[in-house]
Amino acid sequence: MDRNGGALVSSPPEADFEVVVRPGFAVVLASLVLVYTGLYLFAGQLAGEATTFAMALNWAAGVVVLVLLGILMHELGHVAVAAARGQRWTRVILDRSGLGVVIQPGLPGWPSVLRSLAGPVVQLVVALPMLATLYLEDPSVPLTLRTGAHSFWWVAGASNIVIALANLLPVRSWDGGQALAGMREARSKSS
Ligand SMILES: [Zn+2]
Repeated sequence: MDRNGGALVSSPPEADFEVVVRPGFAVVLASLVLVYTGLYLFAGQLAGEATTFAMALNWAAGVVVLVLLGILMHELGHVAVAAARGQRWTRVILDRSGLGVVIQPGLPGWPSVLRSLAGPVVQLVVALPMLATLYLEDPSVPLTLRTGAHSFWWVAGASNIVIALANLLPVRSWDGGQALAGMREARSKSS
């Protein structure tokens, strides 16, 4: 079924859906696990608690899975808005810049703004319940970086928020930059 609007220049056939996996993705994953492992060990040192490398590695792997989940939901946020406008995603890329999708170009003005913002917004929404898990813990324990660092849900939630907000920065090819470009286009059309 052709769901593409008339405005699109070209629409590749259904078979043109690609999943591209590059070795860089494995390197990024391993690096992330190592970074979070170090963070856990460091937090353990600060707290004066006995931590082992194995504990830290388990914790880090859990965080990275939840961060990936947030990034996946972010990308699906873009895809959902695009799909509602009859656009298809043509590619999923797992490489050294992480996980990304390629969607057919060509949404003008406000729909493009909505599509750009949908990713970070969905990621923020996914992050909130992760952060909220901290409040399921003993309320007599004060909320500090140290207590937070021990909950991988909380750290994953905070990481997802940082990633979502960073994507909203007005850098040209990032979500924030594309949303701004869409806004300018919409405004110049309406004036
Ligand atoms: Zn995005």
